[in-house]
Amino acid sequence: MTKKNTNKPSHSHKTSRPAQTHLHFFEQRRDQMVDTIRRLVEIESPSDNKHAVDRCSAFVAEEFAAIGGRAEFHRSTEYGNHLQVDFVGETQQKPVLLLGHYDTVYPLGTLASMPCRAGNGRLWGPGVLDMKSGIALMLYAVQALQSWHGRLPRPVTVFLVSDEEVGSQSSRQITEALAKQSSAVLVLEPSYGPKGAVKTARKGVGEYLLKVSGVAAHSGLDFEKGQSAILELSKQIIAIAKMVDLKRGLTLNVGLISGGTRVNVIAAEATATIDVRIARMKDAAEIDKRLRSLKPFNRKCKLEISGEVNRLPMERTSGVVSLYNKASAIARQHGWRLTEAAVGGGSDGNFTAGLGIPTLDGLGGVGDGAHAQHEFITISELPKRAALLAGLIESV
Ligand SMILES: [Zn+2]
Repeated sequence: MTKKNTNKPSHSHKTSRPAQTHLHFFEQRRDQMVDTIRRLVEIESPSDNKHAVDRCSAFVAEEFAAIGGRAEFHRSTEYGNHLQVDFVGETQQKPVLLLGHYDTVYPLGTLASMPCRAGNGRLWGPGVLDMKSGIALMLYAVQALQSWHGRLPRPVTVFLVSDEEVGSQSSRQITEALAKQSSAVLVLEPSYGPKGAVKTARKGVGEYLLKVSGVAAHSGLDFEKGQSAILELSKQIIAIAKMVDLKRGLTLNVGLISGGTRVNVIAAEATATIDVRIARMKDAAEIDKRLRSLKPFNRKCKLEISGEVNRLPMERTSGVVSLYNKASAIARQHGWRLTEAAVGGGSDGNFTAGLGIPTLDGLGGVGDGAHAQHEFITISELPKRAALLAGLIESV
């Protein structure tokens, strides 16, 4: 009998394990993944509660340490601590950066009215899509690669922040520094739509505060001495609405207004908070200039504007496209078609893409209702997403 050479050293990882085997590996661990996600969701972590977020990050750190990662906290006094986990790899390549956040928009106690539950092939719960399932995908993809190759085929850095939902002020510098040392950034934010498109373009985001000062007066006795800040603000809001240019992907939304003290007093103060979204990099400076050059209609009123475009748009650069092409090829090997989308919301991927580091966003869970009562993920998509992530870590 001819002896087959079954114990020869493994081939290159590209051919030793067919794609279907990889997918199967995750399919077998689907319930475990759901379990991990459930445990993450059940540790509530609203951005504004450091204590709660730290509890969640400690749990996540332990999970990564358990699979051999070197976990290190970047302490923050105001927000929760940020978590960096480094994994060494077989090669000396630059690491690939897996980026995400564990903070959510849901206040402590939300679980009481919005419990984490499974049914109809879905898992519901606060932050399940945005983005606790993304954290679980990181864990399982790293673990899988270790089990397929004995050790990770290349270095991987995981960075999870505590303040993404409130603008990432305290984590941004670290995110950018880590991205600069990495060959690519894979962002595990939720995917887009029911088919789980990845995000190859994101709008930039800004927030401005417009403060109007007028002159208070009794509306009955001294009407003509008053200069209404509310009236002035109303005119400014219309002027701001005229800056919207949908074709350009430029939108401004006055989402909050306040002003006045009493119904019979001409308002001395009024403010508006403006959400700005831009599709093109160069619109950041342009819209900033236009907002700062607003002039009062009533010269006896004063305007004060503060704020900035905080996240630049993630443009569909060639680096982004090449990552997307790699991801599509991996999905095809697994028997499904990956699509891409341009979205209005920003993420920390905007920072890294803004530095010119190839970034692919929306690699996380598939579902709907981020930030809403019906937030859920589709359980059957988890193995596909994990296999996609593992494949990308190997090939970028
Ligand atoms: Zn998110």
